[in-house]
Amino acid sequence: MQVRAKLVAANWKMNGSRADNERWLSTFCAASPRCQTVVCPPYVYLPQVLQGLAGTRTEVGAQNLCALAAGAWTGEVAAEMLVDVGASWVIVGHSERRSAYGETDEIVATKLERALAAGLRPIVCVGETLEQREQGQSQQIVVAQLDALLRRCGVAQLARGAVAYEPIWAIGTGRTATPQQAQQMHEAIRARLAAADAVSAAATRLLYGGSVKPANAAELFTQPDIDGGLIGGASLVAADFLAICEAAAR
Ligand code: PEP
Repeated sequence: MQVRAKLVAANWKMNGSRADNERWLSTFCAASPRCQTVVCPPYVYLPQVLQGLAGTRTEVGAQNLCALAAGAWTGEVAAEMLVDVGASWVIVGHSERRSAYGETDEIVATKLERALAAGLRPIVCVGETLEQREQGQSQQIVVAQLDALLRRCGVAQLARGAVAYEPIWAIGTGRTATPQQAQQMHEAIRARLAAADAVSAAATRLLYGGSVKPANAAELFTQPDIDGGLIGGASLVAADFLAICEAAAR
């Protein structure tokens, strides 16, 4: 059986300040998480967080990138710029970007290509709405999102980063997918990847995201196809994020 190292990523979303980040970094750096960790602050705080984590094993990622090459695109940030400042990961296709900023499967796939071409490790997000789940369409929706990515890049490329299953109804709502619901979807995702490339599928980390907290992390992370988490709200409190990392390491 393939052993995949657990990965836990913090998505700070549009939160933080220089002072809050300093406090977070000093608590976090006083501990040594025993699993692989990535912290994704807002763009403007990337240098501060990179500096604060220098010399640790924790890597730094962005929460987004532009689908276009560098040039006259006011307000955007290119993949190469993220690499230039020292980021090594990037979140692609988060549901908040899909729903609030009109990112279609095609745009997400283009962003994924840009991230990979620049050498970034992508955390690509997929997930269904509550309505889609209630209509019994969850797997069909998630597989379609995945297929749009696979049409553009192979599973081996995805395996350089991770795929995050984030049911939209569980994000920031306090309502977590049960470990069984999450495992069922992760199994379906891995099966879809395996149909294209079994070896790479077995090596690809599948993260669960959606109201993960210290209290529910351990049970989620013991599921066979859950290889870690993408953590939003709970990652803003360094001690909670560390507790989730510890649950992954166990
Ligand atoms: C997220 O937005 O990626 C996320 C998982 O958020 P939360 O943990 O707050 O549900």
